[in-house]
Amino acid sequence: MQDKLNLMIPGPTPVPENVLSCMSKHPIGHRSEDFQKIVQKTTEQLKWLHQTTADVLTITGSGTAAMEAGIINTLSKGDRVICGDNGKFGERWVKVAKAYGLDVTVVKADWGKPLDPNQFKRILEEDTNKKINAVILTHSETSTGVINDLKAITNEVKNHGKAITIADCVTSLGACNIPMDQWGIDVIASGSQKGYMIPPGLSFVAMGKRAWEANNQSNLPKFYLDLKPYLKTVNKNSNPFTPAINLYFALEASLTMMEKEGLNNIFKRHARHQKATQEGIKAMGLKLFTEEKYGSPAITAVEPENIDAEQIRKVLKTDFDILLAGGQDHLKGKIFRIGHLGFVNDRDIISVISALESTLYKMGKLNVPIGQGIAKTISILNKE
Ligand SMILES: *Cc1c(COP(=O)(O)O)cnc(C)c1O
Repeated sequence: MQDKLNLMIPGPTPVPENVLSCMSKHPIGHRSEDFQKIVQKTTEQLKWLHQTTADVLTITGSGTAAMEAGIINTLSKGDRVICGDNGKFGERWVKVAKAYGLDVTVVKADWGKPLDPNQFKRILEEDTNKKINAVILTHSETSTGVINDLKAITNEVKNHGKAITIADCVTSLGACNIPMDQWGIDVIASGSQKGYMIPPGLSFVAMGKRAWEANNQSNLPKFYLDLKPYLKTVNKNSNPFTPAINLYFALEASLTMMEKEGLNNIFKRHARHQKATQEGIKAMGLKLFTEEKYGSPAITAVEPENIDAEQIRKVLKTDFDILLAGGQDHLKGKIFRIGHLGFVNDRDIISVISALESTLYKMGKLNVPIGQGIAKTISILNKE
C-alpha cells in the first residue's frame, strides 16, 4: 500500500512527522544568525547525547565519512593500529585503515560472535615499546546484530597508555549507554539515519582531548574531512563548507525530542524492544543468529534454519509493508535482520512480530501453535 511502508531496517530508520515537516522549507543562509543559533544549539545537544565535554563535529556526509575522518585526523602513514573485525562494518574499518597505508593488525571474531577483549589486552600488553597508535572497532556490528564490549576494550587501551580508541557507534549511539568521557573513548563516529531519527546525510565525529593531541602529529592527507577547520568554525557556530542546512533543522528537532524523552528512557525503551523481539522470535520457533547476551539493542538477526530468509522478507514486504534487512555476503538468504532503532514504539514491535508469525504460517513453516510468538512479545512488553 502506498505510503504505508514501515522501515524496520537498521538504517535509514523511521523519521518522526514533526522532524520531516521541519525540513520542508527553504534553506536559510549558512552564515546567517538564525543558522548560527541552530549550530550552537545542536552542538550542545550532541555533547549531551555523547555524555561528553569533548568536541562533537557535524559533517555533511554519511556515517562512513565520520569513520574516515576519525582515522585521517588522528593517525599517520605507517602507524600501527589494531582493528576489530567481526562483521561487515569491522571489515570497513580495516579497508579504510589499509587505504591510508596504516599497519593493521586485525583482531577477528566469527560473524555473530563478539570480539574478545582479552585478545586486545594481550596485544596491547605485548606492545612494551608503545608502537600501537590506535585501537579501532565497531560497537554495534549492524551486519550481525552483535554488540561488542566497547567499555572493556577501551579500558585495555587506557591501560596501554599511548594508543587511542576510535569507535564506530553508528547503531549504538542513542540506543544504549555510551558515556564517552567516563569510559575514556577518544573518537566516536555516528550517522544521522540511525539512532538520530533523521534522514541520511549528516555524520558526527566526537573528538576527545587525546584525539586532538594525536591530531597534532597526524600527517595523513585530508581536505574536506580535515577536522581542524570544523573545530575552528564550530567554535563560532559555523561550518567550513555549506552544510546540509535542512538536515540541521531536522537534527535540532530530533535531538529536542530525545532530550524530552531523556537518555535513560531511550536506553530502556531500546532494551525492552530488544528483549520483546528476541523472546517473540524464539517463541515462534525461530533461531536467533546471535546469542541474546551479545545482542545489539538496535538490531536482532534471525537465522530461520531451512527457510529462505529472502522469501520471508519478501512476504513481509509485499503483504505487510514491513521492510526488514537481509543478510550480507555469505549470510544472504541465511539470516534476516529486524531493526528496532530510533523512532520505534511498542506498536512497531507488536506488528513486526505478529506479521512475521503470519508470514511463517502462510509459508507453511510455522512449527508451533499460531500466536505463541506474539503472546510472548506482549507478555514481555507488559512486564518490563
Ligand atoms: C550504517 C552504518 C555505518 C555508516 O554507513 P553509511 O552508509 O556510510 O552511513 C557505519 N557503521 C555501522 C555499524 C553502520 O550500521
